[in-house]
Parts: sequence; structure tokens; C-alpha cells
Amino acid sequence: MKKMTIDNINFEGKRVLTRVDFNVPLDKDLNITDDIRIKSTIPTIEKILNDGGKLILMSHLGRPKGEKKPEFSLAPVAKRLSELLGKDVKFLNDCIGDEVENSVNTMKSGEIILLENLRYYKQEEKNDPTFAEQLAKLGDVYVNDAFGTSHRAHASTEGVTKFIKPAVAGYLMEKELDYLGTAIENPVRPFTAILGGAKVSGKIDVIENLFGKVDTLLIGGGMVFTFLKAMDYNIGKSLIEEEKVELASEILTKAEEKEIAFILPTDVVCAKEFSNDSEAKIFDIDQIPDDYMGLDIGPKTIQIYLDSIKRSKTIVWNGPMGVFEFSNFANGTIKIAEGLAKVTELGATTIVGGGDSAAAISSIGLENSISHVSTGGGASLEFLEGKELPGVAALSDL
Ligand code: AMP
Repeated sequence: MKKMTIDNINFEGKRVLTRVDFNVPLDKDLNITDDIRIKSTIPTIEKILNDGGKLILMSHLGRPKGEKKPEFSLAPVAKRLSELLGKDVKFLNDCIGDEVENSVNTMKSGEIILLENLRYYKQEEKNDPTFAEQLAKLGDVYVNDAFGTSHRAHASTEGVTKFIKPAVAGYLMEKELDYLGTAIENPVRPFTAILGGAKVSGKIDVIENLFGKVDTLLIGGGMVFTFLKAMDYNIGKSLIEEEKVELASEILTKAEEKEIAFILPTDVVCAKEFSNDSEAKIFDIDQIPDDYMGLDIGPKTIQIYLDSIKRSKTIVWNGPMGVFEFSNFANGTIKIAEGLAKVTELGATTIVGGGDSAAAISSIGLENSISHVSTGGGASLEFLEGKELPGVAALSDL
């Protein structure tokens, strides 16, 4: 990695202002229902504390939109982090201002403070320089371990780096960039990407960027049908983006010109209604009746995709193969997840983009059987699109 990381710094005696992604899900009683995001930052936290640094953690949670709404408080996170570390975590009920500065300036080495939700201030998402400067007063060094928000130029991810140097990557950020970066820039071949999800429009830039890099693209999810339509198949009541049919057609031509194996399903699991209770029937893609819609990839397709996965040495997956929220249409997504786990065991590098595909992997308990499950849905997608992530670009060069 060409950016400085926390391994380049000894934090002894320093105030270390650290952006983390503690945007955890909470139930209605404000209990944390999944603490993976907190756990993932522990290696970074431990390195800073073991060096003798004074750790000031900051994050957003949910979308309070500039208002101090108690249901978006980070207080429950401070409690959970304290339990996980077996150590006091002092929670401050603001993230800027005199009182916060006083608390930070009287910290001792090895102590931890968690600031209140950054998005209680509108200025955070607006990347307001005055707000960024106020945050910067809290640190001598800046660490960014929040890959999941690095695709946004916010005050705590980008603005703040104009006022504190060095600005370095934490371990989680480094791991994300290493896995995604190596896959895209220097993959062990054959390199296969599996793309699913609802719409072509959400994945166009990824497809185009990956065209220059992959050997094979396996396509699933709702976007399949816009491609099938472009090939003149009858797609019944399946999801369609009429205005993208021409683009889909251009993509198919481009794949042919570039000699990329751009593989679409040969069969699909269909139903008459968009419902888990609607009877599932399997049709070849040239047999989809008018009154049916495709909701998952079919068994022949699963086999073809699994064979392709087996031959690959690097695999990146983003987007479910079907409507995996409905148990009767989750089979394609589950089988692909299991296939990835199997080839990982045999030595392939497997990377799952965040969001729905990561949720699918963890719902079947395979998150530890994949080389890397990204913590950032939007960020990993933008990375795969070939875009520069502002929160990464802002870090100090090595
Ligand atoms: P995305 O956010 O674009 O990755 O899309 C994820 C969503 O795509 C999930 O909520 C899936 O239910 C949905 N999806 C996957 N396959 C289909 C399909 N065949 N028809 C409609 N929606 C689908």
C-alpha cells in the first residue's frame, strides 16, 4: 500500500483521533444486534493503546440528519466496546467544543474516549472546514479505520486530514485496500467476478471497469432480465429497466469484442407473484411464460457458475443471485456462497463486497470461510468501479 499505516507510527503519548465505523444496527430498545463492526476495529485500538497512545474514537450512527436524536446516540457502543476490551471507555456527549477539548487534553496514555455521533452536526456530511478544524483540535495524529465511509468526503474522513498530519490507515482499512486492490490490480488468474443485485444501472460502472481486468463475469439477480431482453428473450413479468436495454446490448457486444466470458443464466426460478408464497417453477430462459417473473438463478445455471468458480484463483462477488430475502428464492445465492467457501479452502482468494452479499454470507454462517468479506458495501462497489475513494486519497503518502 502506498499510504502510511499505523505500523509506520509510534503513538506513545500522542492524542490519536481515530475515525471508525461504529454504525451498528440497534433494536427498538437500543440494544446492539450485531457488533461485528466494533470487533473489527479492535486490532487497531490495541496497537494504539499498546504503544501508549491516547485514543479518541469518532463515528457516525444512522442518519440523524444534523439533529441530536437520542435514538442515534453512540452511548450503547461505548458500553459494548468497554465490555469487549475489558477496559473503561469514556463516552462524551458531544464531538466538538470546549468540554470535549478539556476531556481530551487531560487524558492519560492508554485511555479511550468515544465521541458522540458526528452526524448530530450537519457540517459532518457537508465536509465543513470549520467543523473539520474543530475535530482536528482533538488529535496530534489521525487514523482512519472506517473503510465503509471512505467513499464519502466528509469532515471526519477527508476534511480533518487538512488539519492533522500524518493521516494514516488503520488495520481494517489496510486489509480492505490490500484485498480489493490486489484483486483488481494484480489478481492471480483466472479472475472471475460474480455480479448480482437488482438493477443493471447500479452495476454498469463496475461491469465496465472489470472488463479490463477479469477473465469471466457471471451475472445473476434482477439485472439478468435487462440483458435477456436485449437478446430478445421473453422475460414475462421479470424486473426490467427498459431504458437500459440498449446499454445492456452494448455491454454484450463489448464483452464479445474483448473476448470476456460474460455469462448469463441458462435457467431461472420463477413465480407468478413477487412473494415467497408464490409457487416456484424452473424455466429455461427461452421458456419464461408471460405471467411469470424470474426470482433466482436455476439449478443448471448454479452448476455452470460453480464449475467456473472452481476453475478460478481469484473471485470477487457483489450482489445476490436472486431475491434471497425470500427463502424459496435464496438457493442460488446460498449455493454460490457455499461454492466460494469451498474454493477458499482449496487456496483461491475470495472477496465478497459488503451489503447484501455480505449479509447473505453471514446469514448462512460462512463469513469466516471467505478470504475477505468487505465491511463497506458502497465503498467496495466504488472501489470496483475504479473510483478513487476520498477518505483513502486523503491519507498521507508513504
Ligand atoms: P442491489 O442493492 O442492487 O445489490 O440489489 C439487491 C436486491 O436485489 C436484493 O434485495 C434482492 O432481493 C434483489 N434481487 C435479486 N434478484 C432479483 C430478481 N430476480 N428480481 C427482483 N429483485 C431481485
